[in-house]
Amino acid sequence: MVLIDQVWQDFLKIIKEEVGTRVVETWIKAVSLSRYDAQEQKVYLSAPNLFVKNWVEAHYKKLFQSHLKRLLGVDSVTIIFCIGACTTEPEIMQGASTKIVPAVSAQKKNKQDQSGKKLPGIYTGSASKLNPLYTFDMFVVGDNNSFAYASARAVVQKLGRLYNPLLLYGGSGLGKTHLLHAIGNEIMQKYSDARVLYQTTDRFVTEFIHAIRFDHIAKFQAKYKKIDVLLLDDIQFMVNKEQTQEAFFHIFNALYDANKQIILSSDTLPRNLGGLVDRLKSRLEWGLVADVQVPMLETKIAILKRKAEMQREILSDEVAIFIAKQSVSSVRELEGSLIRVLAYASLTNQSVTIELVKKVLGHVVKQEVVTKIVDFPTIVSKVRQTYSYGIDDLRSKDRSKGVSHARQVAMYLMKKYTGKSLREIGEYLDRKDHTTITHAIQRIKMLFAQDEQFALQLKEIEQTLQ
Ligand code: ADP
Ligand code: MG
Repeated sequence: MVLIDQVWQDFLKIIKEEVGTRVVETWIKAVSLSRYDAQEQKVYLSAPNLFVKNWVEAHYKKLFQSHLKRLLGVDSVTIIFCIGACTTEPEIMQGASTKIVPAVSAQKKNKQDQSGKKLPGIYTGSASKLNPLYTFDMFVVGDNNSFAYASARAVVQKLGRLYNPLLLYGGSGLGKTHLLHAIGNEIMQKYSDARVLYQTTDRFVTEFIHAIRFDHIAKFQAKYKKIDVLLLDDIQFMVNKEQTQEAFFHIFNALYDANKQIILSSDTLPRNLGGLVDRLKSRLEWGLVADVQVPMLETKIAILKRKAEMQREILSDEVAIFIAKQSVSSVRELEGSLIRVLAYASLTNQSVTIELVKKVLGHVVKQEVVTKIVDFPTIVSKVRQTYSYGIDDLRSKDRSKGVSHARQVAMYLMKKYTGKSLREIGEYLDRKDHTTITHAIQRIKMLFAQDEQFALQLKEIEQTLQ
């Protein structure tokens, strides 16, 4: 039996990828899953007030429908929004609230109902976990991602034979997950009986731990070894998990030897990931490695227009340019701005004009950029005051502990306070691969959380910047 809570957690995770953290935090988490009526296939969602109910219903009902249907393993589902505890509906069935039908029987039902005519990608082995909205068609190609896009398309043409594995890497919110799903969806369309599995590394790790705990290792291995196409997202999360790495190593070899296609994503090049065993590092880069970068202005504009079209809105050039110029580092952020704008326009029943955009995003900027913008040299001089390493050290290839640490602090502060992109920071510090910076930022955040003394020190530096 699958617990409904787990379905809800999975749902939140998936849509976080799809619509971004901001929407999830602002709207989706404002409602909660009240109960699921397995017999009637009705999901009751509880909203705190009429405003949230109307809003979420108008904007995200389809999203709820398509994903919950899939996660629950049923062929259709009715979403009912209510205000408060959802107790007023007449057809409440007690006892149906916490458990749902086992996925297997639902799957069977699925097949019967569809009597042979499969919908591409969505249901096929409801286990594939593909998001139907992330397709190649919906992906805007620019200089920043054309190589990754071309590689992804090429892989579909010659599964398991041409580039294996394909590894997509680059910063957060730049389209890796989108491309992984697009590959999966396209494969399902071409070969409807291919066994395709999209999995986040997070889930892979959890599944593995579960397998150890309940002594299912063989089953776990078997599940992965019989897949034709494995799409494993965010493999950087395998870092420092040696047993999982070991298990994955065997799965990788088995799939690879059987000419099964493996597609991976990572926010950092495996060779630069500390905490990954060497033999896995080299395997991951065996095939083709393609990066995704931050899009240029033109591509940002095209993405905005495409995303707006999806919501049946046409953006003028002026508006698109304005929004594109506001968000710097990722497509996810870009989408966030657009969502705000469209939300505001629809809420106030206005059309999307430049005035409206200025008002909406102006507000965002005021709210979110609480810190003053500072320049690179200022940060370098603060870092020198604390750690006694100057710009030459920071730019050097010296990887000794003290210098690396000072460099990472500098990178972290630069990202936080200068408003510059990872690429610009990389250029300033003579670092070609901007994932080094992503990695530095993560490390500093982690240290900040774990090491009290360091936290104090960092706070002190930051105070002098504000
Ligand atoms: P990543 O996995 O690299 O962190 P995602 O694939 O989740 O990033 O992308 C974040 C959001 O940006 C998604 O909604 C995705 O559809 C969108 N996106 C990213 N790149 C593009 C693109 N080139 N064209 C259209 N949408 C994109
Ligand atoms: Mg991703």
